[in-house]
This record gives sequence, structure tokens and C-alpha cells, in this order.
Amino acid sequence: MRCGKGIAGLSYSMISPTQTSIESGIRSVEDPQLCFVGQEQPIMPIEIQDHKPVVEALRDREQELSQLINMVPSHLWRLTPEGEPTFFNKRMVDFLGLDVPDMDRRGKSRLEMLVETVHPDDAAEFRDTLNRCLVSGEHFTMRYRLRRADGLYRWMSSRAEPMRNHAGRIVHWYGLCHDIDDQMHAEEALRRSQQQLQQMIDAVPVRIWSITSLDDPVYFNKRYQDHFRAVIADFEAIEDPRIETLLQELIYPEDAPEVQRTLLNCFESGRGTVMRFRWLEKDGAYRWAECRVEPRRDQDGTIVQWYGVSLDIDDEVRAQEALRNRERELSLLVDMVPSNLWRLTPEGETTLANKHMADFLGVDLQDKRQLAVVFDTIFHPDDVDAVSDVLGRCLKTGELFSMKYRLRRHDGVYRWMSGRAEPLRAPDGGIVQWFGLCHDIDDQVHAEEALRRASEQLARATQAASLAELSASIAHEVNQPLAAIVANSQACHRWLSAAPPNVERAKITAERITRDANSAADVVSRIRALFRQAPQTRSSEDVNHLIGEVCRLMADGIAAKGIRVETDLEPNLPPVALDRVQVQQVFLNLVRNGVEAMDGAMVDGARTLQISSRRDAIDAIRIEVRDAGTGFEHAERVFEPFFTTKQNGMGMGLAICRSIIESHGGRLWMANNETRGATVAFTLPLKASESS
Ligand code: ADP
Repeated sequence: MRCGKGIAGLSYSMISPTQTSIESGIRSVEDPQLCFVGQEQPIMPIEIQDHKPVVEALRDREQELSQLINMVPSHLWRLTPEGEPTFFNKRMVDFLGLDVPDMDRRGKSRLEMLVETVHPDDAAEFRDTLNRCLVSGEHFTMRYRLRRADGLYRWMSSRAEPMRNHAGRIVHWYGLCHDIDDQMHAEEALRRSQQQLQQMIDAVPVRIWSITSLDDPVYFNKRYQDHFRAVIADFEAIEDPRIETLLQELIYPEDAPEVQRTLLNCFESGRGTVMRFRWLEKDGAYRWAECRVEPRRDQDGTIVQWYGVSLDIDDEVRAQEALRNRERELSLLVDMVPSNLWRLTPEGETTLANKHMADFLGVDLQDKRQLAVVFDTIFHPDDVDAVSDVLGRCLKTGELFSMKYRLRRHDGVYRWMSGRAEPLRAPDGGIVQWFGLCHDIDDQVHAEEALRRASEQLARATQAASLAELSASIAHEVNQPLAAIVANSQACHRWLSAAPPNVERAKITAERITRDANSAADVVSRIRALFRQAPQTRSSEDVNHLIGEVCRLMADGIAAKGIRVETDLEPNLPPVALDRVQVQQVFLNLVRNGVEAMDGAMVDGARTLQISSRRDAIDAIRIEVRDAGTGFEHAERVFEPFFTTKQNGMGMGLAICRSIIESHGGRLWMANNETRGATVAFTLPLKASESS
């Protein structure tokens, strides 16, 4: 008898055919030659002395073994040397829904029936392998799918070994197969997830590497390997590539030492890092990359692996660089533009001033606090109210800001500026910020002022010249009757002094004196009539509009003298038929007189020129120019031709004004104010008249 290890690790003993067999000792096993032994001692041939107890013992034993075989959680089977099944344990019968005897009823061989229980995809291999083993006597080992009674296939791991007789001939094949379906599915799922992971690692547009220690070869994902293959000629020849060697090949020479240092630091300190460097591409160009390195630690915190992810950030870096250059260019442009640029919040707080403006004001651009209050201190005291009024209105309404004002330069000098600002709006219409620009027009203002003074002087000179001409002709006209009056007076004197006095002749001479005096008076009347009877070119005009024009014309000159103009104009006044140029001259003259009366060191307090227009009760429009100047000193003489208290005055202004207004059917008069200054007023009738 031979003993050996068998299926499921059970010991079995074999009884040779010559030994006494125990008849149907193990019926369900159907083979008296095999006994399975659960205990250590093998079953020995039993000498039959007392037949009954032995049979009983054998039956118990048989039952025990049968139970064991059927309960073992695997399929057990036995084949003939030719591969015909001769035994299935109960589990296998239950699984297949088929017992060995059932296999004989189908007209096929048992082996064929057995092969049919195997999945069609595995059947050919199963048959071939089994046949090969049956012929060669090799162990049969295979994984295949076996059909369950309900038609479902489950993976089995099967193994069979031959049992030989003493002559070495195979007498049986004993097989075992156990259900590994769950394990196979788990392995399959694992394989699939590994595959997916690998695919993902290869597909993600990043290059990934990992190492266990610095001396170990590096793992590179496919993208990395492709990259190396593309740029390193003999990459395939490098066995066990080390990270340092490869980085040297790949990284821009200037960046390589820093990368190496950072990596070493990182490995030494055990802390991850982020590096940026340029790497070589297959076209020979270098591109920017960002590499993030992180350690993986086990439960004890020991580093077991290092991972690195490298990303191509070249486009991003170049875009950032381009953006930085653009920003530099724009800020250079903003700073170099020869004008002052500024930005305000919708509430009016300064958030930016260009270099030009900062240099002009002498403020530090970096000092946000200084910038925020800068607008409170830089305006000329006379302009600050006007600017804050206008700016405040614009911030509230969103209107464009545009005005002239004086700004204090860093050296304390005020210079005229022309400022403009526009709001930047969000798509919903709300104001996001205000952008403003102001440029220095001081030289221009002074040039204009000089020009204005020059043209004024010229006008005066022209006036003086024409006046000289006029005076000459008046003198000539008046001279003749005056000379005649003088001659006739003397003659009259002589006639009356004669003895006896020649009264008759004296009377005639006196009549001549009267005639000549009348003729002199006529000359003067004719001159006055000159102004009154000037050709009438009247048009229907809006007086307020006319006032506005004159104010604008004189605005710079008035402001330059530090005088404020306040207007109080009644809206919707009816138009008046008038000679536009003449009335403009009147108004211009009155404004200039008012300004000149306030222009001087003697006048202190607010220098305000108030101009008003309103409809008068007598169906006329009344215009007043009220100043805060010196007031009239010789009110009774101001309409006398050539009366002036000014050094360069001509003394004809008010006289001419009155003539013009009267020629329009209106009236012109003046009076000193109760407190300070004087008011000159005139009326223009609404119905055009041709007063003489
Ligand atoms: P001119 O301005 O050339 O002197 P006008 O006829 O316009 O000639 O004025 C005559 C004078 O009247 C002035 O010299 C000045 O003394 C006085 N005058 C005119 N307007 C005013 C005024 N608004 N306030 C004080 N005095 C004035």
C-alpha cells in the first residue's frame, strides 16, 4: 500500500488489488481502493474476526468520509485514465445539476458531456489540456468557466493528478476545482482599474515621474518617455535612468543647477516643492515648465516614494510676460504723456495720478493716503468752491466734467489747467470710475490775456485815433462859429463903445453872435445824432444769450483779476429787437467799468460782479450790472463827454452807452449801492422804437 497527500490536503492510502478489498466500504465513492483519512494514522487492512462490529465500524467510517467529501467546500471528481468521469462529489453534482450516471443517457461520451459543461470559449483549451495530461500523465491545472445548474458560468480553478498502480500505470485521475469567480471578478476589476489608471496617467497632459530614493531609477509616464525619446538621442540605451542624469540632459543649462539644488533640498528636508524651469523640446527650443514634487509617506510618516508632476506652462509664462510688457508699456505711456492723468472712484476719491501729475504736484504716488487727500489742497482758493460744485454735480449726474481752474504746483505757484473727466460705466450703466485729464494752459491763458490786453490797447488806440479825428473835425466845425462869435463880440463891443454908440449895428452884430452860437450848438447836436442815427441793423435777440456771450468773452480776463461773476437771469425772457453789436458794446463797457472799479488794492472783501436781467413792469427788459467797487465819485459828471477818472480812460464810454440805449428807446442810469460799489442799469423796450 502507498500513502500520499491528495486532494484538499487529505491523506489517503491505497490498497493494492491483491490485498483483501472491503466490499463497497465506501459506496458513494464507488472505489474500494481509496480511503480518505482525516486522522494521522492510516487505515490498515482489518482482520475479520468478529464480522459485525467491523462492518459497523467500517460503515461509520464510510459515512464519515462520505460526509467529509461532500462537505469539503470544493468540487471533487474522478476520471478514468481515458478521461471519463466516474465520480463527482455532492457539491459538484449540485453545482452542475448533473451526476455521473446522468451523463450516460444522452448518447454522448461522459468526457464529451464534461467538456460541454465548460464555457464555449474555454472548452477547446480545456479539452486539449486534459487530453495532453491524460496522454503525458502531467498534472492538470487550468482556470475555466463552468456552467452552473442555472446556466450561469462561474470561474473555477481546477487541478487534477493521476493515481498510478504499483506498475506505474495510471488507474484514476483525481481532480479538484474550486470556485474563484468572485476572485476572478475582483482581479478583473483590479486589472481594469489599473489599466484605467495607467491610461489616465498616460493620457493626462502632464509628465509624471516617481522614485523611491535618489539612487533609484526613475519611473516616467508615457508622455515623459516620449519626451525623452524625442530629445535624447540614445535614451533607449540608458539603463536604469537616474533623475539627475536625465534632468541634466533636458533642462536649460542656466536653470539646471538651481533645479538640482532645489530637488536635493526637497529630498533632504522631506518637504515638497514647486520649481519653474525651461526644458528642451524636440524642435531644439526650450519651453517653460512647472514641476511640483511631493513625498508619499506611510503610516509612520516615513517617505516611501517621491512623485513629480511637470506641466508645460510655456504659453502661460509667455502670455504673462507679454502682459507684463504691455502693462509696462502702458504705464510708461501713462507716465510719459505730457499731461496730467488721474482716476477717481465714483465717490470722487483719487485712486491714481500719473507720474507727470505727481511730479507737478510734488506728491508721492505710492502714498495712497497722500493721494486720497490731494484734491483737497491743490486748487486755488478762489477756484476750489467752483470746482467742488461742478465736480460734485458731475459725480452725481454722470455728466462730463470740463472746466478751467488753477492748480498749485509743487513750488507753490498756481497754474491754469483745463480739466476734463469722463465716467467709465459698467454694462448695467453704473459708474465704475472716473478718468480725468488736465493739461497746463497757463502759458496759453497768459498769452490770451496779453493778447486781450494788446487788443484792448489797440482798440483804445483806435478809439483815440478816431476820437482825435473826431475831435479835430469837431474843433474845425466848432471853431468857425466860435471865431465868428469872438469877432462879432469884438465888433459889437466896438459899435457900442463908439460915440455915439451905433446900436443899430451892435444889434445886427449881436444877432450874428446868436446865429453863430446856434450853429456851434448844431454841430454838437449833430455829433450826438451821429450815435443816435447810426444805421439801424436790428434783429430779434435773446438778451440772456447776449449777456452769456459777453461773459464768456470776458471770462478769462475777469477770472485773472480774481473776480467772480454771478448771474441772475430771468428765464424765458421775450426776444428784443436790437442792434446786437451796439448793445454788446454797451454791456461790455458796463462790465469792464465794473471790473475796473473793483480792480485795485483799495477794494477788499468779495469781488463779485452781479449781472441780472428781468422783465420790467413797463414792458421792457431791465438789465443791471452791480459791482462791489469804489462807486461813482462824481456821479453828476459821468455822462459828460471826455469825463474820466482813469489814467488811460477816455471818458466817452458812458456817454456813448446812453446814446445807444436811448437810440433803442430805452434808458440808462446809474447809482451808488448802499453798502459798496455802484449799479448801472438800462432798459430795452420790448416794442422796438426808433427814438431820436
Ligand atoms: P472811462 O471808462 O474811459 O473813464 P466812462 O464814460 O465809461 O469812461 O466812465 C466815466 C467815468 O465814470 C469813469 O472814469 C469812472 O470815474 C466813472 N465810472 C464809470 N463806471 C463806474 C463804476 N462802475 N464805478 C465807479 N465809477 C465808475
